[in-house]
Amino acid sequence: CGIVGYIGPKQAAGYLMEGLRRLEYRGYDSSGIVTLEDTGEVAITKAAGRIDQLAAKLRDASHQGGVGLGHTRWATHGAANDTNSHPHLGGQGEVALVHNGVIENFRNLRDQLEQMGYEFISETDSEVVAHLIAAELKAVLESLGDDTTHDPYAPLVEAVRAATSQLRGTYGLGVVFRDYPEVVLAARLGSPLVIGVGSGENFIASDGSPLVGHTDRITYLSDHEIAVVTADSIRLHDREQGPISHKVSLLEIDE
Ligand code: GLU
Repeated sequence: CGIVGYIGPKQAAGYLMEGLRRLEYRGYDSSGIVTLEDTGEVAITKAAGRIDQLAAKLRDASHQGGVGLGHTRWATHGAANDTNSHPHLGGQGEVALVHNGVIENFRNLRDQLEQMGYEFISETDSEVVAHLIAAELKAVLESLGDDTTHDPYAPLVEAVRAATSQLRGTYGLGVVFRDYPEVVLAARLGSPLVIGVGSGENFIASDGSPLVGHTDRITYLSDHEIAVVTADSIRLHDREQGPISHKVSLLEIDE
């Protein structure tokens, strides 16, 4: 339903919680956040119910990182409970993602991934995407072997490209990678996503409301595009054409 993301020098969790509250008007049944911790861990806190229930759980959780994603869920596949709430982990926890939309062919993909040994803990269509990206990343890294001449984030783009090209349905995705703690990827088809352009920090949101007061410069993500967002750069890739340029617009919000 709603997505927020942050990458920069501040504690991500503060912005994520503020952003989730601004997305409440869209309706939701659960919420959660993930941060990439300074210790190298992936920290997830999520809760069914009101954002206040997430806030209560956060009092006992540590979220110290400057990179993170948040989600308000409107359940389509699987009950509204803690386990089905986003973010979801893929692989052995090397991928974490939030997803808006519906993956129509998730059952087939889940069967294939289970045969490959991936273990599912939720009933959601979204968890399939997390494991699929992890599986594709593993394949890309294996094919590259010792070759380190490529752009450091090229394997991530290729993994998201290969995974999303197998999806039927709609998605707005925010993805973080445990072993690449300085980047957030975003991708969309049919579900809106914007990137807030800050200075020394950048934002992701499913609409402009979480950006107000943080930046008024935005880049719209179009269908079939993948964004690679670091604290001080934004690069877009088209799923078919590869790297493409992007325009920055002024955020206009009717309050
Ligand atoms: N289909 C996903 C789920 O049920 C995402 C729903 C949403 O857009 O919030 O978890």
